[in-house]
Amino acid sequence: MRPLGLRGLPVVAATMAAVAAGASAEVAAAEHLAALSPTLEAASRLATLESVRARARPAVVFPVRGRVDWGEHDARFGAWRGGHVHEGQDVFAPAGRPLRAIRDGRVVETGDDGGRGNYVAMWSREARRTFVYLHMLHPSRARVGERVRAGQRMGAVGCTGSCWGDHLHLEVRVGRGTTGRPVDPLPLLRRLAARRARPE
Ligand SMILES: [Zn+2]
Repeated sequence: MRPLGLRGLPVVAATMAAVAAGASAEVAAAEHLAALSPTLEAASRLATLESVRARARPAVVFPVRGRVDWGEHDARFGAWRGGHVHEGQDVFAPAGRPLRAIRDGRVVETGDDGGRGNYVAMWSREARRTFVYLHMLHPSRARVGERVRAGQRMGAVGCTGSCWGDHLHLEVRVGRGTTGRPVDPLPLLRRLAARRARPE
């Protein structure tokens, strides 16, 4: 074997430089990963947080803020109103009390016709139901086709249209729109009221 001699030194130096370069490339890669991983970690943490938050957001919300009164028998779904059957449940509360969307959904109808007063109808694909709020204090600001989130403010308790005493007349109708078969809203309302009464 030939002695390395002085001429061999550049080769050694080049080799060492190459090793160093390789090593530094590895370090750089590790540093890059380290720089990247907090981002990945943060992203996964954020995703977890978002899924927790999504679970924490209630899917179904009681439609009237504060204390309410269920009224008398004629406030009930199915009550005979001399000429027609009551197709919703009346929920009594002072005028101006905020009304909130029961579920995520889409506004399918709004209006201010004679009997219903100011009203808004929201369709929930998930529940396959349309929730209709009647006699609201002001005309709905929501537009047909607009998406709503459970708990979103939809208006205020009032007594517009054919109405005696400030209340929300709530209708729950099967399918999309205001002409589907009405079902009794009271079981749902009572369930939501009971849940609301529990301490957070
Ligand atoms: Zn009513």
